[in-house]
Amino acid sequence: TVTRQPVVIIDANGLPYLDAGLGVERRVADLLGRMSLADKIGQMTQAERAAVAKDPSLVAQWRLGSVLSGGGSVPTPNTPAAWVQLVNTLQSYALSTPLQIPMIYGIDAVHGHGNVSGATIFPHNVGLGASRDPALVQDVYHATAAEVRATGIPWNFAPCLCVSRDERWGRAYESFAEDPALVARMATAVDGLQGPGRSRLAAPDGVLATAKHYAGDGDTEYGTGSGNYTIDQGVTVTDRADFARVDLAPFRAAVREHGVGSVMPSFSSVDWTADGVGNPVKMHANRELITGVLKRDIGLDGFLVSDWEAIHQLPDPAAPAGEPKPTAGQVRAGVNAGTDMFMEPHTAARFQQLLRDEVTAGRVSTARIDDAVRRILRAKFALGLFEHPYAPADRLGEVGSAAHRALARRAAAQSQVLLKNRGHALPLRPDARIYLAGRTADDIGNQAGGWTLDWQGRSGAAFAGTTILAGIREVAPRATVTFSADASAPTAGADIGVVVVGETPYAEGYGDVGGPACTWCTPPQAEPKSLSLQPGDRAVVDKVCAALPTCVVLLVSGRPQLVTDQLGDIDALVASWLPGGEGAGVADVLFGRRPFTGRLPMTWPRTADQVPINVGDTDYRPLFPYGWGLRTDPGRDRVASAGGANPAPTLAALLAPGRWQPDATLRADADTVDVARRALTAPGTTAAGRDAVLSVLRDAAQARAEAGGAPPRWAALIADADHAEATGAPGRSGALLAQVITG
Ligand code: BGC
Repeated sequence: TVTRQPVVIIDANGLPYLDAGLGVERRVADLLGRMSLADKIGQMTQAERAAVAKDPSLVAQWRLGSVLSGGGSVPTPNTPAAWVQLVNTLQSYALSTPLQIPMIYGIDAVHGHGNVSGATIFPHNVGLGASRDPALVQDVYHATAAEVRATGIPWNFAPCLCVSRDERWGRAYESFAEDPALVARMATAVDGLQGPGRSRLAAPDGVLATAKHYAGDGDTEYGTGSGNYTIDQGVTVTDRADFARVDLAPFRAAVREHGVGSVMPSFSSVDWTADGVGNPVKMHANRELITGVLKRDIGLDGFLVSDWEAIHQLPDPAAPAGEPKPTAGQVRAGVNAGTDMFMEPHTAARFQQLLRDEVTAGRVSTARIDDAVRRILRAKFALGLFEHPYAPADRLGEVGSAAHRALARRAAAQSQVLLKNRGHALPLRPDARIYLAGRTADDIGNQAGGWTLDWQGRSGAAFAGTTILAGIREVAPRATVTFSADASAPTAGADIGVVVVGETPYAEGYGDVGGPACTWCTPPQAEPKSLSLQPGDRAVVDKVCAALPTCVVLLVSGRPQLVTDQLGDIDALVASWLPGGEGAGVADVLFGRRPFTGRLPMTWPRTADQVPINVGDTDYRPLFPYGWGLRTDPGRDRVASAGGANPAPTLAALLAPGRWQPDATLRADADTVDVARRALTAPGTTAAGRDAVLSVLRDAAQARAEAGGAPPRWAALIADADHAEATGAPGRSGALLAQVITG
């Protein structure tokens, strides 16, 4: 073990690049001028923790610009203090090189600092998308940044700005939504990590963000990929206009509106069928999209880091058979396409040797190398790493702090989507006699999903937080709870059943839906698993719904599950997504401590053969449309807090009488619609007021669409209205909602 103490960084000694008083560009130019080719290639290399942990002097020997922890690559013991020790030790070696360039440690903190025990675990992005609350997303990512930086890590491979267009994708839960406009709004995650306008990069609660995976990772077509990858790491078949509208939009927002400091290209390929070429190009070799579009047109001034051994997948027909990876051609293609730093977890030395040869032979220009290094150094200066290369000793209290856990609890509550609520089964009474069943009712690992302690996550994982069962006990001490995971205990005395079932954790590939854990398994999983509930889960739902007069089902899953044939037996259905470590947040909405306000970030399919299904599809007949979500709060609350010139309260009052009684007809008269129209177009209406009006209209429309016998067309109209709202057409949204209200 290495006990070497961190060295104290030298003062400027007259070296301009060490002078914190000079501007970043000056410092970069000065340092670049002093670097050898080996120094530069070192900066472009990122190795895995495990590759250098046993012999950290490799950090100095390879002049590593960066070290990462892949999912589940953690120090022993996995405590926040051990992380600080790890990062500081590696840093001391980086600083022992002649130019004392600090390395930058990177990690996937995609829903909180998920690798580290004791960290706060937030809902995965899909649940945050359901909240429709960009400010919440910013807060969640800010808290994450504070925990990550407290452990000495200044760089997070997040947020995923993927637009998930296929429910079978094993990363669907890493996406905020199927609608690019909503994903783009959630790019506030970047501000959370870096501070708005990069204001916290050098602060103890700021980190460098990575928008990933550029671009089209969630928009690949089933069947067009190769080998085991047909959705994850597959092919996006598109044309340039659609690609810009669907896949690029969130990245454009991340760069232009939020100044994201780094971007990770996608494993996937793009195929411009519209060109009639039909020749998929791997993103990591796509010079047009990386250098042309992202760097030049969109204007990224930060750097690109390749994904895990991604260049090893690039075609290299010239490589001799059996040549180890990466090959010279792969290195050349990757660097020349425009990626700046290379995630070469266990092949760092080989990568460096090959890149040196390519530069010497003139196949990679020194200008390209300098551009890459300049971008990387810029980030390091902006992060203050030259002044503060080591983790502070006194911030470990940030990790899993009470404030962060309270935020995670609120986020979990805001992420819950109430899909059905027959007879007002929810909220539960505080003295309800509950029969609680399902394997996920008391499983914090299932709640957390993938990228938690392990790359794949794990059922039954133990970390600080509350399961849904514990949350129910905490929130409703007067309730009687009989818990039986498999619903085998008798039900005497209970008046309501609550079933918590869904997916077990997975990451990447197709996800583990009742099958092998991943596409890398032996034998590999060749087909995506179904989105249907597993037989055991189905049985528990059937049993509980048959035995109890009222049953509530919570689906804990990274994507919609097919429940159409059981829906009739279920009184209340909740999409809980992957709510994270604070099951108490789920209990909060179950008992009405907080209202249900979440709305579907992904369309909920009716049948397996509808998949993939997305709002805007021509034959759109989902079970629940994009944007669907019943509310248990009066929309009036939001209206009241919206402030400003705001006719919404009048509207709310007009709509209020019938809205929470499904059998009563809404007051759907000309007055209502007239007020709404005026509200949306009145010159004095503020943006907040307009949002409030839409919110009131939407509640009313949804309550009406939910009432028995409502034509399915209404649900589709609401979905269209949501889309219109998300794409900045409030007038059209209002008109569509009014159509539902007036029938
Ligand atoms: C994933 C990335 C992740 C990287 C490092 C890859 O497998 O695609 O999202 O950042 O691993 O852990």
